[in-house]
Amino acid sequence: MLFKSFLKSIFLLITCTLIPKLHAIEGDLNYPSCEFKKILETEVHLYISKSVLKDLSRDDVKTEIYTWQENANTVLQNSCIPMRRKVTVISYVKPIDSSWFTESQVDNTVLLIEMENNIEYQDIDAAGVPIFNGIIFGRFENGFKSEFCGFASASSNHFVARLKCDDDVMEHEIGHLSGANHDHKTLIEINQFTSINAFKAQRGQPIKPYSFGKVCAGRGTIMTYEPNIIHAYSNPDITFDGHRCGNPHHADNARVLREFAELYLAKN
Ligand SMILES: [Zn+2]
Repeated sequence: MLFKSFLKSIFLLITCTLIPKLHAIEGDLNYPSCEFKKILETEVHLYISKSVLKDLSRDDVKTEIYTWQENANTVLQNSCIPMRRKVTVISYVKPIDSSWFTESQVDNTVLLIEMENNIEYQDIDAAGVPIFNGIIFGRFENGFKSEFCGFASASSNHFVARLKCDDDVMEHEIGHLSGANHDHKTLIEINQFTSINAFKAQRGQPIKPYSFGKVCAGRGTIMTYEPNIIHAYSNPDITFDGHRCGNPHHADNARVLREFAELYLAKN
């Protein structure tokens, strides 16, 4: 049983750099206007290592998470996606052993925390809508040497994220869990895939051809690693200084997220 459970939580190392992102945009930024009859609310449950309380108060942690939630909802609104995030569980768990965050063991971190704390993650809400579960901690310390902000599972709705890293980290990781991918430049230059086809082959599951991020006029969208980003998913209807921040054929993360929302809105 244990072996089977370990297999189920195989993670793909989808990571985020520590470079602080800037949102001070100087230029002509245009978001599309859109109205939706129905908006999908997706719950986020966060399990936080008690070790963060060495440096932060519980109110500090709440404030940070509220900022993540606000940023996520701003990104979804700017991107014309009929979806909202709501953090409905903030639960503290035993201090997380930082040695679990080594490259070879990260796949099992979520399961170890579940076992260690005798908790059971909830994967869907009462209406059948996926719940995103995040393991939150302060530092990677001995593991990833503080290089990364987060990881998203390739096989479940779980992510791992650092507090005090980047205010978009939660939405970035949930973006991965919803089918969004980094931009081509990040995948090749930073994630070090030899080609986009090599990335697709490693994923081992179908990838929508338009599921990639985009850099426009030197500004990234939230699935990129650019230090200066606009607050949105890639979307061909967004322009910055006359450049489209998406492409309908290969860079429309907003469409990926919109399709995710429509799938569940159609059922409810
Ligand atoms: Zn990422």
